[in-house]
Amino acid sequence: MKKVIILITLNIFFMAIAGCNSKNSLTKDGFTLNDSGNKSTGQNINQNINQNNNIMDDHQKKENPYYSRTDISKLDVPDSEWIKILPPEVYEVAREKGTERAFTGKYWNTEGIGTYYCAVCGNALFRSDEKFASACGWPSFFETIRKNSVIYKEDNSYGMNRTEVLCGRCDSHLGHLFDDGPPPTGKRYCMNSIVLDFEIGDKQESGK
Ligand SMILES: [Zn+2]
Repeated sequence: MKKVIILITLNIFFMAIAGCNSKNSLTKDGFTLNDSGNKSTGQNINQNINQNNNIMDDHQKKENPYYSRTDISKLDVPDSEWIKILPPEVYEVAREKGTERAFTGKYWNTEGIGTYYCAVCGNALFRSDEKFASACGWPSFFETIRKNSVIYKEDNSYGMNRTEVLCGRCDSHLGHLFDDGPPPTGKRYCMNSIVLDFEIGDKQESGK
């Protein structure tokens, strides 16, 4: 009986650490925790999510006439048009200012060299070397590719005073900006994975 209580206590302890530590600890602890059999289940879920995302991305690029990684001209497309084009999950975050759950998005712990584009219109937003390991569970960046890659709006919803970050080309909601990021900017662009599109590549998009 004592052994069971100790095991449960240890599990709660590790889960607490996993929830607030860096992403590396989380992965490591997560795997340690799940060695009893949940590990493979988690991997399967991740694979399914990735497959679904790939299907969605292909679908999105084929059906979305506004998507371009070269055209940076401003778009003025009404929601009544976006709702016909975007997958519902993307529309909910991008056009209705939804927020995906922490630690569930496809890019919260992504590493690798490349560029993050707006999943709605293809606008280049962030380079991978502007991404940092944040404990918040959403992909976080300390700087944008170009000054006008994004635009900002005051957001007083939910009784909070926050700065909303929107795509500079299509005005889609991407996430929020906070002042607790790392040097050199001290900023944290806390983004939703579902509205980002990561393209792996040695040559990152340059906008400066
Ligand atoms: Zn956009």
